[in-house]
Amino acid sequence: MRRLSLLIIIASALMTTACNPKAQTSGIDVTNLDTSVSPKVDFYQYACGGWMQKNPLTGEYARFGSFDKLAEDNREQLNGLIKDIASKVSEKGAIEQKIGDIYNLAMDSIKLNEDGYTPVKADLERVASIKDKSELSVVIPELLLSDIGAYFSIYVDADPANSSQYLLQTYQGGISLGEREYYLDNDEHSVGIRNKYKEHVAKMFELTGFTPKQAQKNTEAVLRIETRLATTAYDKVKLRDPYANYNKISVEELRKLISSIDWNSYFTTLGLENVNELNVSQKESLVEVGNIIASEPLDAQIAYIQWKVIDSAASYLSDDIYAQNFDFYGKTLSGKETQSPRWKRAVSSVNSMLGEAVGQMYVKQYFSPEAKERMIKLVRNLQTTLGQRIEVLTWMSDETKAKAKEKLDAFYVKIGYPDKWRDYSALNIEKDSYYENVKRANRFEYAYMLAKAGKLVDKDEWQMTPQTVNAYYNPSTNEICFPAGILQYPFFDMKADDAFNYGAIGVVIGHEMTHGFDDQGRQFDKDGNLKDWWTKEDATRFEERAKVMADFFDTIEVTPGVHGNGKFTLGENIADHGGLQVAYQAFQTVAQGTPLAHKDGFTPEQRFFLAYATVWAGNIRPEEILVRTKSDPHSLGRWRVNGALPHIAAWYEAFDVQEGDPQFVSVEKRVSIW
Ligand SMILES: [Zn+2]
Repeated sequence: MRRLSLLIIIASALMTTACNPKAQTSGIDVTNLDTSVSPKVDFYQYACGGWMQKNPLTGEYARFGSFDKLAEDNREQLNGLIKDIASKVSEKGAIEQKIGDIYNLAMDSIKLNEDGYTPVKADLERVASIKDKSELSVVIPELLLSDIGAYFSIYVDADPANSSQYLLQTYQGGISLGEREYYLDNDEHSVGIRNKYKEHVAKMFELTGFTPKQAQKNTEAVLRIETRLATTAYDKVKLRDPYANYNKISVEELRKLISSIDWNSYFTTLGLENVNELNVSQKESLVEVGNIIASEPLDAQIAYIQWKVIDSAASYLSDDIYAQNFDFYGKTLSGKETQSPRWKRAVSSVNSMLGEAVGQMYVKQYFSPEAKERMIKLVRNLQTTLGQRIEVLTWMSDETKAKAKEKLDAFYVKIGYPDKWRDYSALNIEKDSYYENVKRANRFEYAYMLAKAGKLVDKDEWQMTPQTVNAYYNPSTNEICFPAGILQYPFFDMKADDAFNYGAIGVVIGHEMTHGFDDQGRQFDKDGNLKDWWTKEDATRFEERAKVMADFFDTIEVTPGVHGNGKFTLGENIADHGGLQVAYQAFQTVAQGTPLAHKDGFTPEQRFFLAYATVWAGNIRPEEILVRTKSDPHSLGRWRVNGALPHIAAWYEAFDVQEGDPQFVSVEKRVSIW
């Protein structure tokens, strides 16, 4: 729900002056290449063909790329740490006891299967015992504290209009299929998913103690209520408009707006006292929640809420329930063939429940202070270069450039891991059941978040754990963050020289940075407040240039007969373009002082682009190409390379690409923004 720009990317640290460049490697693994293809004909195949052959898709994955491979390695490392702890007896209350007990409960298939759906029984009975709709104002928030989101949810984040202050905010939800289109569209694919979903809901009711007849009846109610929620839910485009999602009102106004919920009971149950105001992020959606509560029969609402309980618990119960859950969400919805092994799921659970405790152990072992220091230098170099490039832009007015400069200088940079760590002493982990502990951990997290409402924003808090293989830009704090998990090969390599590291993690950093200044970033000022700081003319000139990019990606055929969506992927394609331009120039500046040699048969410039391409190496199923073309604002890996590089002059020089070569784009048709 936070407005983070994730990258699915990475960062790597970089390096330089401290090391002797002659001793550094090229970082290029020549077995990743497919030299049977010319780089002038198909650069992606040339740079990544060997990688693709070495890393075929397994049943567990719909797409598997460099990023996923790193996440797999990362999981192995975490498993080593966690398994070791779990094999020893620890003192009750110690962090080792908590990590060990969660892991062991997740791994104990005998107990999970013996328990069946028993762990969830009390919650189902609690919901069944509701006698009057007024009780919903207690039960809904009570379940939300365990992260069971019926109808809508509540969270705390910076007030978009007053970014130094935390604000309570509502968010639409309550539909298990996630995307509203699955409930509303009538194309063959959506109808098929909907029908399978109905079967799935009914089967899950049966697996948790309901008769087939009750299960059928409950399923009808679930579909009807979720379809109502989907109908008023904001679509993807509207959710991206920060103004459309900002409606700060008083609790007094909220009471008038939605009278079927007793807001006093609701907030008291959440443990919130003295709530005066909140942001109703999607107003019409929340109003419809009120209508549903008022108009739907109580037994239908009980069925719907019970479904939320079952759906949330499914991953933590017996194997038959888990298998049914995977059959729908994994196979039908995502095209996966096989479940992840139990140990991977156990590691993920420990990771999400005790993220910073695990993270603290992880960085001690896998992230050095030297890596952090080098990353800081790399980020600073890119920051300086982006400033220089903004200075000479012809489409941005001087007035806007001055504001952009201020925003760039105000960047808050986070690398590796937080300076202060979360305290988990108030989280109690028992040996009763896996599910009970998942709920305890969720309650611990929710209480922590809700306690922030109305307080000053803590900019030092991290929105990702250090072991995460990803990176983000957060507009409300104007911060960029590169966790330790992503600062590894092939994104970052301490042993490799600047050509490699600027081409890989450097481009990722540049990508994240430009998000602070593009059509999304322009809506938030240097302090993170919702405020457009561009002039109208800047916007017009930006759009003219952006159109060149959108038109180019529209022409790309991602699979026979299907084209890319240039408008939908525009923001991310521009960020890749900006990241390449900024990182390349920063690399050239650094290399001026200490020129790099040819290594492994490649010039430094060639290695820069090869390292970039390797970040996007991957294999993908044809079904997944279709899914992502519809749902992912990032272009597919192949086109983040073959679509991006033909707009970069230095790439033509590095590989001597000439007019007449298949990837050649004439100078007047190339994009020029950052
Ligand atoms: Zn991005």
